[in-house]
Amino acid sequence: MELPFAESWKIKVIEPIRRSTREEREQWLREAHYNVFQLKAEQVYIDLLTDSGTGAMSDRQWAEMMVGDESYAGATSFYKFEAMVQRIFGLPYVIPTHQGRAAENVLFSLLVKEGHVVPGNAHFDTTKGHIESRKATAIDVTCDEAHDTQLEVPFKGNVGLEKLEKVLKENTGKVPFMVLTVTNNTVGGQPVSMQNIRETCALCHRYGVPVVMDSARFAENAYFIKTREQGYADKSIKEITREMYSYVDAATMSCKKDAIVNMGGFIATRKKEWYDGAKMFCIPMEGYVTYGGLNGRDLNAVAQGLDENTEFDMLDTRIRQVRHLAERLDEYGIPYQRPAGGHAIFVDADKVLTHVPKEEFPAQTLTCELYLEAGIRACEIGYMLADRDPVTRANRFGGLDLLRLAIPRRVYTDNHIDVVAAALKNVYDRRESVTRGVAIEWEAPLMRHFTVQLRRLG
Ligand SMILES: *Cc1c(COP(=O)(O)O)cnc(C)c1O
Repeated sequence: MELPFAESWKIKVIEPIRRSTREEREQWLREAHYNVFQLKAEQVYIDLLTDSGTGAMSDRQWAEMMVGDESYAGATSFYKFEAMVQRIFGLPYVIPTHQGRAAENVLFSLLVKEGHVVPGNAHFDTTKGHIESRKATAIDVTCDEAHDTQLEVPFKGNVGLEKLEKVLKENTGKVPFMVLTVTNNTVGGQPVSMQNIRETCALCHRYGVPVVMDSARFAENAYFIKTREQGYADKSIKEITREMYSYVDAATMSCKKDAIVNMGGFIATRKKEWYDGAKMFCIPMEGYVTYGGLNGRDLNAVAQGLDENTEFDMLDTRIRQVRHLAERLDEYGIPYQRPAGGHAIFVDADKVLTHVPKEEFPAQTLTCELYLEAGIRACEIGYMLADRDPVTRANRFGGLDLLRLAIPRRVYTDNHIDVVAAALKNVYDRRESVTRGVAIEWEAPLMRHFTVQLRRLG
């Protein structure tokens, strides 16, 4: 008999979690204004809000925490961190920051000016926020395939090259850089092929525009290149990563994702002038350039995390678990962004809660229903997150309306995943009876989804 697959690690530390009753959840969700960001974590049974900073560190990472050097300047931890970033990405100039958005803040403070245009394959929300708050425009140039959730293509995160070229052509002198996000989070954790990375960078460089890789899930992207793209099956994840970054000019990274730490980020670049310029913003915003808002022990944990999470077995264990959830949903006929992405399953809420009008936020409504069903916290990646148009202030209903089930790295077992799938099936089975959604009672002017207060309709 062929041996089944099993995780490439075993468990050394556990954290108890508790189920709740439906009555408790009804009350807690009401108190949270039907926004799961406002719940207390202890009111959640299985937390799939995000895969960001929620991973389980390895024993090696904890060991590295113990030997962190907490010197203010020039700590050995910084040099360990810097050397690892240089080794993994091949980019020589490295600035640590406390998380990914801080890296964006520091670098964009240098580069983004009023009136600028920044194309990208579906900018992450903080990336878009850092562009729009500087009175510049973020333009999505993701390939069209990404917007049909049922289309089964291997690299749905790709840049649409014609769309990108149009933006570059029409905005000469106004494009400080292009953002290439791997994997493409916003359209479902979908990967970008090596060919597309190569062609995107060549196109940008032809127009004299540098490329910044938004790198949160670079290792998962490399895994998909290895397993799906011709010519890469025999290359290691580390070799593939080096090639990916050989084409770009800089990277910003949220280490809370593929470095499997609870907090951390960095900027890395081959452009000396960007490095020198960004350092000047790092000091007042994040701290001195050898710690950038991080403890020495955090820098050590990032270095170790980058090393071990660019090994195939670690990524294989992870991606298989995401696929496991997808296979359960296939069994139950629940529509999601196909094929399964790297870090999450994105359920197509528009196709589930078909009776809830988009003005009443179907994905947000589904988030509430799933929490009420089983205490599972998912995240809306849809019309609420899409926010309002900065000029017209109208809700942006043009994109997808998704419920994201983000899977923390090395945290839940496949049994937990089966509970999630079953809970979602129960909601799906009674979808016809959900006819009303939610209405906004209060919202912030920017990135409203974190703090929005809602009312349940009907
Ligand atoms: C998480 C994320 C960021 C921001 O990083 P934080 O560490 O959360 O500040 C930027 N881009 C992408 C693609 C991300 O997933």
